[in-house]
Amino acid sequence: DLWEARGHVRFDDVEFGYGEGRVILPDFSLDIPAGQTIALVGTTGAGKSTLAKLISRFYDPTRGVISLDDVDLRSLHPKDLRRAIVMVTQEAYLFSGTVADNIALGKPGATMEEVRAAATAVGADAFIQALPDGYGTDVNKRGGRVSAGQRQLISFARAFLANPAVLILDEATASLDIPSERAIQDALQTLLADRTAIIIAHRLSTVAIADRVLVMEHGRIIEDDVPATL
Ligand code: ATP
Ligand code: MG
Repeated sequence: DLWEARGHVRFDDVEFGYGEGRVILPDFSLDIPAGQTIALVGTTGAGKSTLAKLISRFYDPTRGVISLDDVDLRSLHPKDLRRAIVMVTQEAYLFSGTVADNIALGKPGATMEEVRAAATAVGADAFIQALPDGYGTDVNKRGGRVSAGQRQLISFARAFLANPAVLILDEATASLDIPSERAIQDALQTLLADRTAIIIAHRLSTVAIADRVLVMEHGRIIEDDVPATL
């Protein structure tokens, strides 16, 4: 009954601009096989986040087709789309509520066991248990209980629980302390396994774990290669 996406993403001659005026993506084509990890890099304003928003259907192309497993995104049931494609952005890592609430958002009706299993998978269980109220800690309480790196790990646990066929990640630009940087790399490896991933990468260590690196400039891909050769 439930549609299971494999995660093959394709852009065919896509044109996109935000309303009146300048075209951001003039003619964009890209084929991402199911399971591939893409690192997307490029100068500010190149169109990386725009691309991410198009895959998540925040916007639709003005021309051309974006498809998932050869189905036009516009033909997918919104429920199927939301289950298949999950975007983790740096602006909205956490919502108000407890740590458990924030992780559980990944899967409607998730049990506490599932929440803990997801946190454990991305290496977040230990620090969460050490918080004043553990999984019941309010993430928005002032006083710096939850660091930037920890927030990112909580959002990774949520995405892990959601288990989408396609994960889009706009990586944090803010530099993290070294232990959490390491923790986040380990968490990323776990999170990316067995799914298609498109990461807007700001860290060299993230680029290194990708199968393929795309360099964008002015809405076009100017390099498409494996990490080692860049
Ligand atoms: P950065 O590395 O700074 O995040 P980016 O590659 O993600 O840059 P985008 O955010 O995709 O770039 O922006 C591409 C272009 O689209 C820029 O010129 C930007 O000003 C414009 N743009 C982005 N969002 C909007 C919007 N909501 N309305 C109008 N123009 C926008
Ligand atoms: Mg961006």
